[in-house]
Amino acid sequence: MEFRDLKRQYQVLKPQMDAAMLEVAQNCNFISGKQVTELEQQLADYVGVKHCVTCGNGTDALTLMMMAWDIKEGDAVFVPAFTFFASAEVIAFEGATPVFVDVDEHTFNLDADKLEQAILKVKEEGKLCPRAVIAVDLFGQPADYPKIEAVCKKYDLLLLEDAAQGFGGRIGDRVACSFGDAAATSFFPAKPLGCYGDGGAVFTNDDQTAELLRSLRVHGKSPSSKYDNIRLGINSRLDTIQAAVLQVKLKAFQEYELDAVNRAAKSYTEHLGDIVKTPVVPEGFYSSWAQYTLILDSAEQRAYLQQELKEQGIPTMVYYPKPMHLQGAFAALGYQQGDLPVSEALCERVVSLPMHPYLNEEDIKFVSNAVRAALEK
Ligand SMILES: *Cc1c(COP(=O)(O)O)cnc(C)c1O
Repeated sequence: MEFRDLKRQYQVLKPQMDAAMLEVAQNCNFISGKQVTELEQQLADYVGVKHCVTCGNGTDALTLMMMAWDIKEGDAVFVPAFTFFASAEVIAFEGATPVFVDVDEHTFNLDADKLEQAILKVKEEGKLCPRAVIAVDLFGQPADYPKIEAVCKKYDLLLLEDAAQGFGGRIGDRVACSFGDAAATSFFPAKPLGCYGDGGAVFTNDDQTAELLRSLRVHGKSPSSKYDNIRLGINSRLDTIQAAVLQVKLKAFQEYELDAVNRAAKSYTEHLGDIVKTPVVPEGFYSSWAQYTLILDSAEQRAYLQQELKEQGIPTMVYYPKPMHLQGAFAALGYQQGDLPVSEALCERVVSLPMHPYLNEEDIKFVSNAVRAALEK
Protein backbone atom coordinates (compact mmCIF):
# COMPACT_ATOMS: atom_id res chain seq x y z
CA MET A 1 0.00 0.00 0.00
CA GLU A 2 1.18 3.52 -0.88
CA PHE A 3 0.91 6.48 1.50
CA ARG A 4 -0.18 8.68 -1.42
CA ASP A 5 -0.73 6.61 -4.54
CA LEU A 6 0.53 8.72 -7.45
CA LYS A 7 1.00 5.62 -9.60
CA ARG A 8 -2.67 4.72 -9.44
CA GLN A 9 -3.55 8.33 -10.28
CA TYR A 10 -1.30 8.23 -13.35
CA GLN A 11 -2.86 4.98 -14.57
CA VAL A 12 -6.32 6.58 -14.38
CA LEU A 13 -5.25 9.81 -16.12
CA LYS A 14 -2.74 8.23 -18.53
CA PRO A 15 -4.33 8.99 -21.95
CA GLN A 16 -4.87 12.71 -21.26
CA MET A 17 -1.63 13.02 -19.30
CA ASP A 18 0.55 11.44 -22.00
CA ALA A 19 -1.05 13.63 -24.68
CA ALA A 20 -0.55 16.80 -22.61
CA MET A 21 3.13 16.09 -21.90
CA LEU A 22 3.85 15.02 -25.49
CA GLU A 23 2.34 18.23 -26.84
CA VAL A 24 4.83 20.27 -24.82
CA ALA A 25 7.72 18.11 -26.05
CA GLN A 26 6.59 18.48 -29.66
CA ASN A 27 6.11 22.25 -29.45
CA CYS A 28 9.33 22.77 -27.43
CA ASN A 29 7.74 25.76 -25.66
CA PHE A 30 9.30 24.64 -22.39
CA ILE A 31 9.35 28.03 -20.63
CA SER A 32 6.28 30.32 -20.42
CA GLY A 33 4.28 28.33 -22.98
CA LYS A 34 0.57 28.95 -23.52
CA GLN A 35 -0.35 26.23 -20.99
CA VAL A 36 1.11 28.40 -18.21
CA THR A 37 -1.12 31.39 -19.02
CA GLU A 38 -4.15 29.12 -19.50
CA LEU A 39 -3.53 27.37 -16.17
CA GLU A 40 -3.16 30.71 -14.33
CA GLN A 41 -6.59 31.74 -15.63
CA GLN A 42 -8.14 28.35 -14.71
CA LEU A 43 -6.67 28.48 -11.19
CA ALA A 44 -7.78 32.10 -10.65
CA ASP A 45 -11.30 31.18 -11.80
CA TYR A 46 -11.42 28.12 -9.53
CA VAL A 47 -10.30 30.11 -6.50
CA GLY A 48 -12.35 33.18 -7.37
CA VAL A 49 -9.39 35.58 -7.18
CA LYS A 50 -8.38 38.12 -9.83
CA HIS A 51 -4.73 37.10 -10.29
CA CYS A 52 -2.82 33.83 -10.18
CA VAL A 53 0.95 34.10 -10.71
CA THR A 54 2.64 30.70 -11.00
CA CYS A 55 6.25 30.12 -9.95
CA GLY A 56 8.89 27.43 -9.32
CA ASN A 57 7.65 25.98 -6.00
CA GLY A 58 5.63 26.77 -2.88
CA THR A 59 8.60 28.14 -0.96
CA ASP A 60 9.26 30.64 -3.76
CA ALA A 61 5.56 31.56 -3.78
CA LEU A 62 5.85 32.54 -0.09
CA THR A 63 9.21 34.24 -0.72
CA LEU A 64 7.82 36.28 -3.63
CA MET A 65 5.16 37.68 -1.29
CA MET A 66 7.76 38.47 1.38
CA MET A 67 9.68 40.36 -1.33
CA ALA A 68 6.55 42.07 -2.69
CA TRP A 69 5.74 43.35 0.82
CA ASP A 70 9.36 44.36 1.44
CA ILE A 71 9.58 42.26 4.61
CA LYS A 72 13.04 42.94 6.06
CA GLU A 73 15.33 43.10 9.08
CA GLY A 74 13.55 44.51 12.12
CA ASP A 75 10.15 43.22 11.00
CA ALA A 76 8.16 40.65 12.97
CA VAL A 77 6.11 38.09 11.02
CA PHE A 78 3.82 35.81 13.03
CA VAL A 79 3.63 32.15 12.03
CA PRO A 80 2.38 28.93 13.65
CA ALA A 81 4.95 26.71 15.39
CA PHE A 82 3.31 23.54 14.02
CA THR A 83 3.94 23.58 10.26
CA PHE A 84 6.44 22.66 7.56
CA PHE A 85 9.77 24.50 7.89
CA ALA A 86 9.29 26.64 4.73
CA SER A 87 6.44 28.66 6.33
CA ALA A 88 8.94 30.16 8.78
CA GLU A 89 12.14 29.85 6.73
CA VAL A 90 10.97 32.43 4.17
CA ILE A 91 10.60 35.05 6.93
CA ALA A 92 14.11 34.58 8.30
CA PHE A 93 15.49 34.39 4.75
CA GLU A 94 14.46 38.04 4.25
CA GLY A 95 16.29 38.95 7.47
CA ALA A 96 13.01 39.43 9.37
CA THR A 97 12.14 37.66 12.64
CA PRO A 98 9.60 34.84 12.75
CA VAL A 99 7.46 35.03 15.89
CA PHE A 100 6.08 31.58 16.61
CA VAL A 101 2.49 31.21 17.77
CA ASP A 102 0.88 28.10 19.24
CA VAL A 103 -1.92 26.25 17.44
CA ASP A 104 -5.38 24.96 18.29
CA GLU A 105 -5.15 21.39 19.60
CA HIS A 106 -8.20 20.23 17.60
CA THR A 107 -7.66 21.80 14.17
CA PHE A 108 -3.81 21.98 14.25
CA ASN A 109 -4.13 25.55 12.92
CA LEU A 110 -3.08 28.99 14.20
CA ASP A 111 -4.90 29.98 17.40
CA ALA A 112 -6.29 33.51 16.82
CA ASP A 113 -6.34 34.38 20.56
CA LYS A 114 -2.70 33.37 20.97
CA LEU A 115 -1.89 35.35 17.82
CA GLU A 116 -3.30 38.48 19.42
CA GLN A 117 -1.31 37.84 22.62
CA ALA A 118 1.89 37.43 20.58
CA ILE A 119 1.26 40.68 18.68
CA LEU A 120 0.68 42.58 21.93
CA LYS A 121 3.88 41.14 23.42
CA VAL A 122 5.99 42.24 20.43
CA LYS A 123 4.43 45.71 20.54
CA GLU A 124 5.10 45.98 24.27
CA GLU A 125 8.75 44.93 23.89
CA GLY A 126 9.09 47.56 21.15
CA LYS A 127 12.10 45.96 19.44
CA LEU A 128 10.48 44.62 16.27
CA CYS A 129 7.94 46.13 13.92
CA PRO A 130 4.89 43.84 13.54
CA ARG A 131 4.26 43.61 9.78
CA ALA A 132 2.50 40.42 8.72
CA VAL A 133 0.98 37.06 9.62
CA ILE A 134 1.51 33.83 7.69
CA ALA A 135 -1.40 31.51 8.52
CA VAL A 136 -1.14 27.90 7.38
CA ASP A 137 -3.94 25.62 6.09
CA LEU A 138 -2.41 22.57 7.72
CA PHE A 139 -3.28 19.09 6.40
CA GLY A 140 -5.77 20.61 3.92
CA GLN A 141 -8.04 22.50 6.30
CA PRO A 142 -8.23 26.31 6.09
CA ALA A 143 -7.06 28.19 9.18
CA ASP A 144 -9.72 30.15 11.09
CA TYR A 145 -9.68 33.13 8.69
CA PRO A 146 -12.78 34.93 9.98
CA LYS A 147 -11.00 35.32 13.36
CA ILE A 148 -7.46 35.75 11.98
CA GLU A 149 -8.54 38.40 9.46
CA ALA A 150 -10.20 40.36 12.27
CA VAL A 151 -6.99 40.30 14.37
CA CYS A 152 -4.89 41.39 11.35
CA LYS A 153 -7.28 44.24 10.65
CA LYS A 154 -7.24 45.37 14.30
CA TYR A 155 -3.43 45.63 14.35
CA ASP A 156 -3.01 46.66 10.69
CA LEU A 157 -1.00 43.58 9.68
CA LEU A 158 -0.73 42.01 6.23
CA LEU A 159 -2.07 38.44 6.02
CA LEU A 160 -0.54 35.74 3.81
CA GLU A 161 -2.35 32.40 3.50
CA ASP A 162 0.12 29.50 3.24
CA ALA A 163 -2.15 27.16 1.31
CA ALA A 164 0.64 24.80 0.23
CA GLN A 165 -1.43 21.96 1.72
CA GLY A 166 -4.76 23.74 1.49
CA PHE A 167 -5.73 23.93 -2.18
CA GLY A 168 -9.38 22.85 -2.52
CA GLY A 169 -10.40 23.64 1.08
CA ARG A 170 -13.26 26.01 1.91
CA ILE A 171 -14.94 27.96 4.69
CA GLY A 172 -18.58 28.35 3.67
CA ASP A 173 -18.42 29.53 0.08
CA ARG A 174 -14.95 31.08 0.41
CA VAL A 175 -12.30 28.93 -1.26
CA ALA A 176 -8.71 28.33 -0.04
CA CYS A 177 -6.15 30.63 -1.72
CA SER A 178 -8.65 33.51 -1.49
CA PHE A 179 -8.08 34.42 2.18
CA GLY A 180 -6.02 37.32 3.51
CA ASP A 181 -4.20 39.83 1.29
CA ALA A 182 -2.51 37.11 -0.75
CA ALA A 183 -2.12 33.33 -0.75
CA ALA A 184 0.64 30.93 -1.76
CA THR A 185 0.28 27.31 -2.78
CA SER A 186 2.57 24.43 -3.78
CA PHE A 187 2.24 21.84 -6.55
CA PHE A 188 4.84 19.48 -5.01
CA PRO A 189 3.70 15.98 -6.15
CA ALA A 190 2.26 14.91 -2.78
CA LYS A 191 0.16 18.07 -2.18
CA PRO A 192 -3.61 18.01 -2.82
CA LEU A 193 -3.02 19.37 -6.36
CA GLY A 194 0.46 18.19 -7.37
CA CYS A 195 2.47 18.25 -10.59
CA TYR A 196 5.34 16.00 -11.76
CA GLY A 197 8.11 17.96 -10.08
CA ASP A 198 8.21 21.33 -8.30
CA GLY A 199 5.67 24.08 -8.85
CA GLY A 200 3.85 26.83 -6.99
CA ALA A 201 1.55 29.83 -7.32
CA VAL A 202 0.58 33.09 -5.67
CA PHE A 203 -2.99 34.43 -5.64
CA THR A 204 -4.07 38.02 -5.06
CA ASN A 205 -6.86 40.43 -5.94
CA ASP A 206 -4.45 43.37 -5.92
CA ASP A 207 -3.41 44.52 -9.44
CA GLN A 208 -0.21 46.22 -8.32
CA THR A 209 0.95 43.22 -6.28
CA ALA A 210 0.30 40.91 -9.24
CA GLU A 211 2.36 43.11 -11.55
CA LEU A 212 5.17 43.22 -9.00
CA LEU A 213 5.11 39.40 -8.66
CA ARG A 214 5.34 38.96 -12.46
CA SER A 215 8.44 41.15 -12.39
CA LEU A 216 10.01 39.54 -9.30
CA ARG A 217 9.70 36.00 -10.67
CA VAL A 218 11.76 36.94 -13.77
CA HIS A 219 14.79 38.81 -12.38
CA GLY A 220 12.87 42.02 -11.65
CA LYS A 221 12.11 42.65 -15.33
CA SER A 222 10.13 45.65 -16.51
CA PRO A 223 6.60 45.00 -17.81
CA SER A 224 7.81 45.45 -21.40
CA SER A 225 11.19 43.71 -21.54
CA LYS A 226 13.06 40.82 -20.01
CA TYR A 227 16.34 42.70 -20.54
CA ASP A 228 15.23 45.88 -18.80
CA ASN A 229 15.66 45.07 -15.10
CA ILE A 230 14.07 47.63 -12.82
CA ARG A 231 14.59 45.80 -9.50
CA LEU A 232 16.28 42.68 -8.12
CA GLY A 233 14.22 39.54 -8.45
CA ILE A 234 14.64 35.78 -8.62
CA ASN A 235 14.29 33.16 -11.35
CA SER A 236 11.15 31.23 -10.44
CA ARG A 237 8.77 30.13 -13.19
CA LEU A 238 6.46 27.15 -13.55
CA ASP A 239 7.68 24.94 -16.42
CA THR A 240 5.24 24.57 -19.31
CA ILE A 241 5.28 20.78 -18.89
CA GLN A 242 4.19 21.16 -15.25
CA ALA A 243 1.40 23.53 -16.29
CA ALA A 244 0.23 20.93 -18.84
CA VAL A 245 0.26 18.22 -16.14
CA LEU A 246 -1.65 20.50 -13.78
CA GLN A 247 -4.34 21.25 -16.38
CA VAL A 248 -5.13 17.52 -16.54
CA LYS A 249 -4.95 17.13 -12.76
CA LEU A 250 -7.06 20.22 -12.00
CA LYS A 251 -9.88 18.75 -14.06
CA ALA A 252 -9.76 15.44 -12.15
CA PHE A 253 -9.41 17.35 -8.87
CA GLN A 254 -12.58 19.34 -9.58
CA GLU A 255 -14.56 16.49 -11.10
CA TYR A 256 -14.01 13.78 -8.49
CA GLU A 257 -10.73 13.76 -6.53
CA LEU A 258 -11.77 16.32 -3.94
CA ASP A 259 -15.04 14.43 -3.32
CA ALA A 260 -13.12 11.16 -3.14
CA VAL A 261 -10.74 12.30 -0.39
CA ASN A 262 -13.66 13.66 1.60
CA ARG A 263 -15.46 10.31 1.28
CA ALA A 264 -12.28 8.52 2.40
CA ALA A 265 -11.86 10.82 5.41
CA LYS A 266 -15.49 10.36 6.44
CA SER A 267 -15.10 6.60 6.23
CA TYR A 268 -11.88 6.58 8.32
CA THR A 269 -13.63 8.67 10.96
CA GLU A 270 -16.66 6.33 11.02
CA HIS A 271 -14.36 3.34 11.51
CA LEU A 272 -12.04 4.93 14.06
CA GLY A 273 -13.83 7.81 15.79
CA ASP A 274 -14.77 5.76 18.85
CA ILE A 275 -11.27 4.47 19.58
CA VAL A 276 -8.80 7.27 18.77
CA LYS A 277 -8.85 11.06 18.34
CA THR A 278 -9.71 11.60 14.65
CA PRO A 279 -9.42 14.96 12.78
CA VAL A 280 -11.87 17.71 13.72
CA VAL A 281 -13.54 19.68 10.91
CA PRO A 282 -15.44 22.63 12.42
CA GLU A 283 -18.96 23.50 11.19
CA GLY A 284 -18.80 25.23 7.80
CA PHE A 285 -15.19 24.13 7.11
CA TYR A 286 -14.24 21.79 4.26
CA SER A 287 -10.83 20.13 3.97
CA SER A 288 -8.89 18.90 0.93
CA TRP A 289 -7.23 16.26 3.18
CA ALA A 290 -3.57 16.72 2.39
CA GLN A 291 -3.21 14.47 5.45
CA TYR A 292 -5.54 12.40 7.64
CA THR A 293 -3.97 12.78 11.06
CA LEU A 294 -4.72 10.99 14.34
CA ILE A 295 -3.69 12.16 17.82
CA LEU A 296 -2.52 9.35 20.09
CA ASP A 297 -2.04 9.29 23.86
CA SER A 298 1.74 9.34 23.89
CA ALA A 299 4.92 9.11 21.82
CA GLU A 300 5.26 5.46 22.96
CA GLN A 301 1.77 4.54 21.76
CA ARG A 302 2.51 6.23 18.43
CA ALA A 303 5.76 4.34 17.92
CA TYR A 304 3.98 1.10 18.75
CA LEU A 305 1.10 1.81 16.33
CA GLN A 306 3.49 2.73 13.51
CA GLN A 307 5.39 -0.52 14.04
CA GLU A 308 2.23 -2.65 14.09
CA LEU A 309 0.98 -1.03 10.86
CA LYS A 310 4.35 -1.34 9.18
CA GLU A 311 4.31 -5.08 9.81
CA GLN A 312 1.10 -5.26 7.77
CA GLY A 313 2.55 -3.18 4.93
CA ILE A 314 0.70 0.01 5.90
CA PRO A 315 2.85 3.14 5.65
CA THR A 316 2.37 6.01 8.14
CA MET A 317 4.10 9.37 8.50
CA VAL A 318 4.73 11.85 11.32
CA TYR A 319 3.97 15.42 10.23
CA TYR A 320 5.77 16.96 12.09
CA PRO A 321 8.21 15.51 14.61
CA LYS A 322 9.71 18.88 15.70
CA PRO A 323 8.01 22.27 16.14
CA MET A 324 9.45 25.38 14.45
CA HIS A 325 10.55 27.12 17.65
CA LEU A 326 12.79 24.17 18.60
CA GLN A 327 14.44 23.76 15.18
CA GLY A 328 18.21 24.17 15.24
CA ALA A 329 18.02 26.77 12.46
CA PHE A 330 16.10 29.07 14.84
CA ALA A 331 18.18 28.37 17.97
CA ALA A 332 19.43 31.98 18.01
CA LEU A 333 15.85 33.18 18.65
CA GLY A 334 16.13 31.65 22.14
CA TYR A 335 12.90 29.66 22.42
CA GLN A 336 12.77 26.93 25.08
CA GLN A 337 11.00 23.60 25.41
CA GLY A 338 7.63 24.38 27.03
CA ASP A 339 7.17 27.76 25.30
CA LEU A 340 4.48 26.51 22.89
CA PRO A 341 3.02 23.45 24.63
CA VAL A 342 0.26 22.50 22.17
CA SER A 343 2.64 22.37 19.20
CA GLU A 344 5.15 20.39 21.26
CA ALA A 345 2.54 17.85 22.38
CA LEU A 346 1.24 17.41 18.82
CA CYS A 347 4.75 16.74 17.54
CA GLU A 348 5.00 13.86 20.02
CA ARG A 349 1.57 12.38 19.41
CA VAL A 350 0.36 12.86 15.80
CA VAL A 351 0.49 10.24 13.07
CA SER A 352 -0.92 10.39 9.53
CA LEU A 353 -2.57 7.47 7.73
CA PRO A 354 -2.51 6.75 3.96
CA MET A 355 -4.74 9.34 2.26
CA HIS A 356 -5.42 10.02 -1.43
CA PRO A 357 -8.34 10.03 -3.87
CA TYR A 358 -7.69 6.50 -5.13
CA LEU A 359 -8.12 4.72 -1.78
CA ASN A 360 -11.13 2.44 -1.95
CA GLU A 361 -13.45 1.30 0.82
CA GLU A 362 -11.53 -1.98 1.17
CA ASP A 363 -8.22 -0.14 1.67
CA ILE A 364 -9.82 2.02 4.35
CA LYS A 365 -11.31 -0.98 6.13
CA PHE A 366 -7.97 -2.76 6.03
CA VAL A 367 -6.10 0.21 7.53
CA SER A 368 -8.85 0.94 10.07
CA ASN A 369 -9.01 -2.68 11.23
CA ALA A 370 -5.24 -2.73 11.67
CA VAL A 371 -5.36 0.50 13.72
CA ARG A 372 -8.19 -0.89 15.86
CA ALA A 373 -6.47 -4.21 16.40
CA ALA A 374 -3.26 -2.45 17.51
CA LEU A 375 -4.98 -0.01 19.85
CA GLU A 376 -7.27 -2.63 21.39
CA LYS A 377 -4.33 -4.95 22.18
C1 LIG B 1 5.08 21.98 1.11
C2 LIG B 1 4.93 23.19 1.91
C3 LIG B 1 5.58 24.40 1.58
C4 LIG B 1 6.64 24.49 0.53
O1 LIG B 1 6.25 24.08 -0.74
P1 LIG B 1 7.39 23.56 -1.77
O2 LIG B 1 6.66 23.51 -3.07
O3 LIG B 1 7.84 22.23 -1.29
O4 LIG B 1 8.48 24.57 -1.79
C5 LIG B 1 5.30 25.52 2.35
N1 LIG B 1 4.44 25.47 3.37
C6 LIG B 1 3.79 24.35 3.72
C7 LIG B 1 2.83 24.38 4.86
C8 LIG B 1 4.02 23.17 3.02
O5 LIG B 1 3.40 22.04 3.39
